[in-house]
Amino acid sequence: MSKKLISVIVPCYNEAEALPFFFVELDKVIDSMPEYDFEAIYVDDGSKDSTLDIVRNRAKEDKRTRFVSFSRNFGKEAGMLAGLRSAKGDYAVIMDADLQDPPSLLPEMMALLVEKKVDSVATRRGSRKGEPPVRSFFAKCFYGIVNKISKVKLVPGARDYRLMSRRMVDAVLSLCEYNRFSKGIFEWVGFKTEWITYENIERVAGKTKWSFWGLFKYSLECIVAFSTAPLAISSFCGFFMFILSIIGALVIIIRKIIDSSSSVGGWASTICVILFVGGLQLLCIGVLGQYLSKTYMETKRRPDYIVAETEDDKTE
Ligand code: UDP
Ligand code: MG
Repeated sequence: MSKKLISVIVPCYNEAEALPFFFVELDKVIDSMPEYDFEAIYVDDGSKDSTLDIVRNRAKEDKRTRFVSFSRNFGKEAGMLAGLRSAKGDYAVIMDADLQDPPSLLPEMMALLVEKKVDSVATRRGSRKGEPPVRSFFAKCFYGIVNKISKVKLVPGARDYRLMSRRMVDAVLSLCEYNRFSKGIFEWVGFKTEWITYENIERVAGKTKWSFWGLFKYSLECIVAFSTAPLAISSFCGFFMFILSIIGALVIIIRKIIDSSSSVGGWASTICVILFVGGLQLLCIGVLGQYLSKTYMETKRRPDYIVAETEDDKTE
């Protein structure tokens, strides 16, 4: 019987410092799993350092290495998608290049997948040790809100480090939305998943590519992609204000009838109400705008990324 093939997908953006360490670790894992064949797909996400050269050289030396290089930086989501699309394996695993997703966990993940007969083995961080407290706080809020308002339930601390069977990969690829939020997509497609928890590990070299603002935009992406609750909430607020204004009008009319001499006064509170309602309206329009902008991007049907080079291209 021929060996099953595992595709290792590694999104890389400016990872020249981390990649040499990653190669060593991955080789160790591959050697420890002789019962499987491997291919490693490095997705160079428009890196500005020598990532592409390193990957290109690696592909020359090692026949199991393949790569896809983007024409510019398209983001990790596009990188993971490109990797999954080009994966030929019976199984696919996505892992970061910075060794924060330890490759040494792969044998355990594979064993669990086979033993429990599941389609996916995912990982989560047990703690957020080594992360700024503000970031952990916002992450907690984010998971709280998302899990309340959307049908898709996200596991707090879930990483993108995940081993999947071919049928799950095909299911993930069958979702052709432009605004991709993979953690949500993995949950949405279903299939049985086993979770492995591990301690947070600091990246081996280089810097994180996520700014606070970047993470904030990414979380909005998730909420808009997997829930329409904000639209319902803004409609509800509008309705609530409408009822309130009718009650207010009635109170004023009745008071006028009972006591026609009542003074005008209370302009400060009036201004407060105007500001409040105005603010609320802007907020609701903003919410609407978020959905509209996502719909606009979807209707453009732009490709998720542009490939500039792969290992099949002859560069010399
Ligand atoms: N990454 C990418 N494109 C980007 C940003 C990041 O391909 O635009 C890759 C990066 O090279 C790494 C992985 O995604 O392999 C995770 O990035 P990072 O370590 O910066 O995120 P963190 O672990 O801090 O969440
Ligand atoms: Mg990292």
